[in-house]
Amino acid sequence: MDKKTAILLIEDDEVDVMNVQRAFKKNSFQNPLYIANNGLEALALLKGDGRQALNPVPKIILLDINMPKMGGIEFLQQLRNDKLLRSISVFVLTTSNEDCDKIAAYNLNVAGYILKPVSFERFVEALGTLGAYWDLCQR
Ligand SMILES: [Mg+2]
Repeated sequence: MDKKTAILLIEDDEVDVMNVQRAFKKNSFQNPLYIANNGLEALALLKGDGRQALNPVPKIILLDINMPKMGGIEFLQQLRNDKLLRSISVFVLTTSNEDCDKIAAYNLNVAGYILKPVSFERFVEALGTLGAYWDLCQR
């Protein structure tokens, strides 16, 4: 994956954050990886809110669904209503296999909905596939 592409991971679970970081290493992704622990924190990082906003602006968001303060679906609603941020590609990365979450996510134009695999090896593969898919879309 083009290493200039910055990625924002929005995830409340520390172990899941570590797994993403490890899977990035395993895939030799060298992309800037920002981390927010919930939707509110992510919006603050993206908009700046008094501080400097994330720079470079992330082109990809990896989004968990179940989080405290602001979950993934509510975050997506806010993101898609923001003129400057609405075009960021979002991949949902979740354990939620609820149809209502999937439908809501796709209605808010997510690029993909990835169920967190049980094993770390499969998780590395899933992120590798995401990287390959992203490269293909950029051509
Ligand atoms: Mg979570």
